[in-house]
Amino acid sequence: MLKVFNCDFHIHTCLSPCADLDMHPRALVEKALEAKLDLIAICDHNSSENVPFVMNAASGKALNVISGMEITTSEEVHVLAIFDSLDNLARIQRVVYQHLSGKNDERLFGVQAVVNENGEVEGINEKLLIGATDLSLDKLLIHIHEFNGLAIAAHIDRESFSVLSQLGFIDKKVKFDALEITPATGIAGARIKYRDLSNYSFLVSSDSHFLKDIGTARTKIVLREATIAELKMAFAGQNGRRVLE
Ligand SMILES: [Zn+2]
Ligand SMILES: [Zn+2]
Repeated sequence: MLKVFNCDFHIHTCLSPCADLDMHPRALVEKALEAKLDLIAICDHNSSENVPFVMNAASGKALNVISGMEITTSEEVHVLAIFDSLDNLARIQRVVYQHLSGKNDERLFGVQAVVNENGEVEGINEKLLIGATDLSLDKLLIHIHEFNGLAIAAHIDRESFSVLSQLGFIDKKVKFDALEITPATGIAGARIKYRDLSNYSFLVSSDSHFLKDIGTARTKIVLREATIAELKMAFAGQNGRRVLE
């Protein structure tokens, strides 16, 4: 049976240097439940170590967690990549780390904490997660699709780190599955502003870096269940699956 899922595909954890340390798995899941979200994706900058812990924290609760990552391309474009399995997430993680260099400066960018579902620190990631990979946008999307993931252009209406701010347009060869809009513009506003992108599904997400942000934005999507296969159909508007506007 098809039903409406309240989705937010862009939530950071305390692993992102720019996110609050209060954004640990258990607190984040509690806030998402309180906000009546049904489906969230965890997308930390170029990293995914907290995803399994968020899944553990949500286990047995009325919240679906999809694994993901917000990857920075060589053009400094942010792309949300979401996957059906931790195996495929590990595959994209290997590619991203092969193409990411540098060491984090905690004083400058913040702490990158790996925290389990009990709130215990498992470790500190020392890579320069805030940096850009040397993967071009088209190469990255090929990898995401190779690992059965979906690629969403992040915050296309923002003046930095978006495909439009960095490249000015979306090349037809670059196969995004959907485009993300900030709540400030909203889907209705984006439909007016981006008439040339009318073929795409638009999603609104919170890009939460703080607990208080969770629940401030959501996209309602008609799905049978919370899987990548269902989301792929919804983004393409197939078989009754669709993004509600
Ligand atoms: Zn971003
Ligand atoms: Zn983000």
